[in-house]
Amino acid sequence: MKVFITGGAGFIGSHLAERLLDRGDRVLVLDDLSTGTMDNIQHLIGRPGFEYRIGSALDLPLVTECVDRCDVTVHLAAAVGVRLIVERPVHTIETNVGCTETVLDAAAKKQKLVFVASTSEVYGKSGKIPFSEEDDLQLGPTSHSRWAYACSKALDEWLALAYLREKKVPVVVARFFNTVGPRQTGRYGMVLPNFVSQALAGEPITVFGTGTQSRCFGHVFDAVEAILRLIAAPAAVGQVVNVGNDEEVTILGLAERVREATGSTSEIRLVPYSEAYPEGFEDMHRRVPDVRKLERMIGFRPRTPLTQIIADVVADQRARLAAR
Ligand code: UDP
Repeated sequence: MKVFITGGAGFIGSHLAERLLDRGDRVLVLDDLSTGTMDNIQHLIGRPGFEYRIGSALDLPLVTECVDRCDVTVHLAAAVGVRLIVERPVHTIETNVGCTETVLDAAAKKQKLVFVASTSEVYGKSGKIPFSEEDDLQLGPTSHSRWAYACSKALDEWLALAYLREKKVPVVVARFFNTVGPRQTGRYGMVLPNFVSQALAGEPITVFGTGTQSRCFGHVFDAVEAILRLIAAPAAVGQVVNVGNDEEVTILGLAERVREATGSTSEIRLVPYSEAYPEGFEDMHRRVPDVRKLERMIGFRPRTPLTQIIADVVADQRARLAAR
């Protein structure tokens, strides 16, 4: 099988590419290196079956050529990370909606399978725990830029399902919950890599708000396993499915566990939201996936324990520091 991965030099995409090559599949990566980086795929260059292109997933002729040359497209290219979203709302909306439209348009010509990566952000501030795929979406006002991200990804889902209905493009939509692991950078605001680098540097671990907000963190290796199974499951076509781990932790609890795992003496510092984010930001209090549909569909759900996930991120960052 040959798999086209948009955003393939990104965090999840590069792990997916590696896993596909390991099992003997071929991979074509497209990335504009906006948040992805060559460091993520450098070790793959030269491996049999690996090809990459630097370019935009908004470029229809380029995307069409790549889609045509592959059996399936895994569309991961997107504007990600809370910081980027709040600082560059135009870029976020245009990238997220435009790239998905381009990929689906290209796939429509030969009705090729497209896996569309969405996000748990689309559930918005729903208080119904856990979040199930058929739940109503509860987004905040347009004056708060965070919701532009959620809304752009929800539109991606609508587009994917519309292409299936109207143009018979087989699509699978996955809503990723907080996905973490080796190679993820804290540059765009993600909490776990930030906490680990702060702890390793002996700097204060910055917990935003009161730290009572909680998240469920899934290992990127589990996310990759779910992607591989979903693109191979005929029953997944036309479905929207949560991909996440349901082990919940408060952000303050996460800070404590990172401090323990690193043996750091860093202080844990509470930072008010007004200092942490520009105006127009609203945080989510709890976010827990209902993973029954995923498990039913592919016989798998992310289960790597948080302790293991933290240990992997710490080991990765230590190795990078040592290499410098
Ligand atoms: N957060 C934090 N310190 C940081 C970065 C994030 O306390 O340095 C908090 C953030 O406010 C949120 C949670 O950690 O409550 C998860 O943030 P992230 O940006 O990783 O993902 P989100 O779930 O918000 O998309």
